Amino acid sequence: MVLNDTELQTSLKKYFGFSSFKGLQEPVIKNVIAGNNTFVIMPTGGGKSLCYQLPALIKEGTAIVVSPLIALMKNQVDALRGISSEEGVAHVLNSSLNKSEVKQVKQDIVDGVTKLLYVAPESLTKEDYIEFLQSVTLSFVAIDEAHCISEWGHDFRPEYRNLRSIINRLGENIPIIGLTATATPKVQEDIIKNLDIPDAKLFKASFNRPNLFYEVRPKTKNVDADIIRFVKKNSGKSGIIYCLSRKKVEELAQVLQVNGVSAVPYHAGFDSKTRSKYQDMFLMEDVDVVVATIAFGMGIDKPDVRYVIHHDIPKSIESYYQETGRAGRDGGEGHCLAFYSYKDVEKLEKFMSGKPVAEQEIGNALLHEIVAYAETSISRRKFILHYFGEEFDEVEGEGADMDDNARNPKEKEEAGHNLVKLIEAIQGTNEKFKSKEIVKTLIGTTNALIASHKIEGKDIFGSGSDQPEEYWMALIRQALVAGLLKKEIEQYGILRVTAAGEEFLKNPVSFMMTKDHVYNEEMDNAIVS
Ligand code: ADP
Repeated sequence: MVLNDTELQTSLKKYFGFSSFKGLQEPVIKNVIAGNNTFVIMPTGGGKSLCYQLPALIKEGTAIVVSPLIALMKNQVDALRGISSEEGVAHVLNSSLNKSEVKQVKQDIVDGVTKLLYVAPESLTKEDYIEFLQSVTLSFVAIDEAHCISEWGHDFRPEYRNLRSIINRLGENIPIIGLTATATPKVQEDIIKNLDIPDAKLFKASFNRPNLFYEVRPKTKNVDADIIRFVKKNSGKSGIIYCLSRKKVEELAQVLQVNGVSAVPYHAGFDSKTRSKYQDMFLMEDVDVVVATIAFGMGIDKPDVRYVIHHDIPKSIESYYQETGRAGRDGGEGHCLAFYSYKDVEKLEKFMSGKPVAEQEIGNALLHEIVAYAETSISRRKFILHYFGEEFDEVEGEGADMDDNARNPKEKEEAGHNLVKLIEAIQGTNEKFKSKEIVKTLIGTTNALIASHKIEGKDIFGSGSDQPEEYWMALIRQALVAGLLKKEIEQYGILRVTAAGEEFLKNPVSFMMTKDHVYNEEMDNAIVS
């Protein structure tokens, strides 16, 4: 099926009232209409839903939309019913429907009325539904929140792993469109592998949010006072403050109230009535601030959130990006401020210690990345975007001056000769070690792993003993961002030298590095403005 551009524009206007496509929507939609497998990576708010909704409305048959979030499915179904003359244009199929409702849904599909059928992945395992779907015309299967397939995403759901075999049973060559706002290369790879869509055309939008200002401050015992000062300076503006524990949420909300700030708490421990009351108060601007656990935010679309503060360090860069992404949706100012102390990292590590080993290792690897983000002195935007597999020019790129490190750059120093030592240490240990062991090798301290590889007798052992551990950690991080090294996340962070790194070793040139921030205990008395 091929539609020309005018026909496509007309449908967009007719169904959704929009006069133009947003970002990559048009090429995505054309690819889906053509019946090809498609993979869409767009940040939240990028307009993913339309990428399957419009083709579903246009194409013959019913599109199945797999989504893990019942509330969001219901919202979408309501919205679609609002734009169509047919009540049955979209349905949710799930276990809460009674027999006659299921019959109605099936009838609407058979009659060709239903263009979109929303299902949770577990409903799709029901034999009765599978048999029924085998007998009708399906246009394609859209898999929303496709990162749920990967243990490396922030929301792993084992049911997502069975989707491919179920889709195979539904019919031959049913096109698939996977969509996610998670852009890490590892998750991307998992999705393609698990859905078995190696031929899918990839559409990836930029994750750069140039209007967001990123800042990290040391977390001292005065953190609450620092937050109050920040909030008061921004009084009248909407802000979200994330805390790790429910207890801290309630405590901080109260402290803010006592200090004359209009704030409400929000966490999953409140009943749903209280939660929606507080949420509405924030949305309706009866209060400026919501102090919340990560339970707050899914599906919240308040365009003018002016700041997002993290009282505690989040568990991954992914979560940090999602949570800060709620600021400045309208394109206006959005200040993302995180308070960082290594003690919080230890707390998070402790939380994880009860979990299965594989999960713990993944959790720790993700946590190390956010620590690196907090401690880095290079452009924070470049750091985040690099994590998502995206290049960013810290001089010319959009939003280049929008972070604390860019505004107050630390002095750089020549590190070319040390980079040579670093690369030699990685190669000399046969690319078997993580950062920790590489740094020990360079400094010349040993542990069981280093001893078992008989590294102590080699020239590389102790070749960098003139620099402290922090120096080498900083150099490793910057060499990673510069693409000279890569980290094998699947092997929990083993360092490898890239082709560019090998080239550097052959022809060493200048490499300017900035030392990381050191946030230590002395900071407890630091004055933060
Ligand atoms: P995502 O699922 O990627 O987070 P949504 O599909 O919820 O994003 O879309 C985000 C917002 O953008 C919604 O309010 C939607 O109505 C709006 N939107 C989507 N496509 C367009 C368009 N072509 N023109 C204008 N607004 C759009």
